[in-house]
Amino acid sequence: MHKTAEVLVRENQTKRTVRITGNDKPEIEPEIIKRWQRIINLIAKILEVPAGLIMQAKEDSISVLLKSQNPENPYSEGGVDSLGHGIYCETVIGENRELLIDNALTHEDWKDNPDVKLNMISYCGLPIQWEDGEFFGTICVLDNKTNYYCDNYRALLEEFKITIESDLRSAQYKQQLRYYAEMDVMTATYNRNKMESVLASEFERSRRYGEVFSLTLMDINSLKKINDTFGHCKGDEIIKTFASAFNSRIRDVDHFGRWGGDEFMLLCPNTVIDGMETLMKDIFKLVTEEMGKVVPNSSFCYGCAEYSKEDHDYQEILKIADQKVYLCKEGYRR
Ligand code: GH3
Ligand code: MG
Repeated sequence: MHKTAEVLVRENQTKRTVRITGNDKPEIEPEIIKRWQRIINLIAKILEVPAGLIMQAKEDSISVLLKSQNPENPYSEGGVDSLGHGIYCETVIGENRELLIDNALTHEDWKDNPDVKLNMISYCGLPIQWEDGEFFGTICVLDNKTNYYCDNYRALLEEFKITIESDLRSAQYKQQLRYYAEMDVMTATYNRNKMESVLASEFERSRRYGEVFSLTLMDINSLKKINDTFGHCKGDEIIKTFASAFNSRIRDVDHFGRWGGDEFMLLCPNTVIDGMETLMKDIFKLVTEEMGKVVPNSSFCYGCAEYSKEDHDYQEILKIADQKVYLCKEGYRR
């Protein structure tokens, strides 16, 4: 989901709504944070300023994600400034540009800005953005004396900004890789690989701790016929409708995914087979109702099975569920 923040651009006293880090963005890994910390420490040291900061924009505030770890730095990590007061970083984000204030006290617009209270009277900062343009925050340096920040220092800050933005891009690529490794793109449910790994770990957990789980295999009825009669797109729509109707009706702790083609699997931890069968009866009615809106009378067959401590591996559970699907299909075809 998209998120926005309203920032005040001090020089022209205008409020701007900007897009900031949305819920779809990954967390930044500790290794990356450590590297950013080294960057910000280095910046403060090279530029000989009391404060180097990486700021993170939130919906109604901007907070100090990282501060240079020198004793003169007056900011604290996690420190929060609410938006709307026209702090330096608001202009950087609101106008998406570098802001350089050599001495706030000599500028009518800036002489009363909130950071002056900390004696941070000069500022140089740049925006940090995700690849899609959402603002992560800023990278900036502040000084307690007039500072013109020479071209080389500004170029250095720009290089660090580029490095941080490239880290953000990599984090997103990693997140996407993880997503495609375990999700079925068409139905946005787990794929076969992920379901096999869930099944293997659930089997191991049940064996080790003497617990139980149940699973259900499902197969959509007559999908070939639907494809042949109404076209492949209608077949796809049936699969997607089946998956989303199903997915919206199971608990968070349950695992649901595409086993292959028109076959799906539901795995419910800590559930005995009676519980699974009751759940499936309810879900069957609701899901076939949704499928019927796409192609009248469409349905699916299913078979449930329960983990037993006599099972040597999870293939045995799958075999039982598969046999039940087969029996269901025989009944359906009659
Ligand atoms: P049954 O009632 O016995 O399950 O018959 P069925 O026609 O559904 O055939 P079966 O389950 O044996 O095979 C699945 C068919 O589903 C094969 C293929 O034509 C179709 N199918 C598999 N994946 C897709 C898909 O992604 N989209 C569409 N449209 N069809 C698919
Ligand atoms: Mg089928």
